[in-house]
Amino acid sequence: MDLRNDLERDLVNIADNLSDVLFVSKRRLAAVHACEAHHLAEQRTPFEWSIPLARGSVSHKAIELSMHLAGQRDPGDLVDEAVAILIDRQTRVGDFLSTCGEASRAELRSESSAMVSSFLDTFPTLRKGWRPATEVSKRVELCQEKITLSGKFDLTIGMPNDTTAGRVIVDVKTGGFAPEHREDLRFYALIETLVTGVPPLLVATHYIESGRMLEEAITEDVLNSAVRRTTDGIIRLSQLENEDVEPVRKPGAACRWCPISDDCTPGTAWLNDSDGW
Ligand code: SF4
Repeated sequence: MDLRNDLERDLVNIADNLSDVLFVSKRRLAAVHACEAHHLAEQRTPFEWSIPLARGSVSHKAIELSMHLAGQRDPGDLVDEAVAILIDRQTRVGDFLSTCGEASRAELRSESSAMVSSFLDTFPTLRKGWRPATEVSKRVELCQEKITLSGKFDLTIGMPNDTTAGRVIVDVKTGGFAPEHREDLRFYALIETLVTGVPPLLVATHYIESGRMLEEAITEDVLNSAVRRTTDGIIRLSQLENEDVEPVRKPGAACRWCPISDDCTPGTAWLNDSDGW
């Protein structure tokens, strides 16, 4: 199995026609596979932070702190530390947090504290010997650096050696289950394999609100499926950027927050049929 060769063989023609480096994240892949018209509309809409979006970032940072700070910490204190760090680092979410107003910050503190509390109640206590690491960034450059696959793993546990899979990659979700979460982690498994030469032993999505953990063992079939999905997604991303193809509309859950839903016939029909859900 030569995953890099499989990817580059199918992407070389696309890469030759790229005017700039194409960055591919799990979010972009999920977006282009969900609804291409929505993906393009979102790209043209300026991004704005909101309390629900900031809640995810703050909760993730607070959970990260809970794994590395000694002793048991109150979830509210962890959230306060997380907010202070994000503001201090002058991140974009930090700018939002410092200007969103006291009432919004209080709402965010309350919701994030509840998230962190649920996580601490439901996630197994991590031991040092498991070598846990949080916010692990990895990237893979393909086709003479024309295409970059990038990922930031919420949590990894364990270590591979030269020949044996030994790492578990965990994605922590603040919302509910969605089928694409499994594909997100398959993409991460592909990145991990390309970087280290050894596949992860297991990938898992942990849902904070329900305390559920959905796991998948990483097999050759899973990695081949990730290669196909990644290749298909990159080809479509590049064709859409070059305006070589008409964007496909695929109604679904994303219609609920789609910026062009008022002008989209299939999306409006789906929303009417789904009765708001
Ligand atoms: S409303 Fe739905 S189908 Fe239409 S573009 Fe948006 S996400 Fe796609």
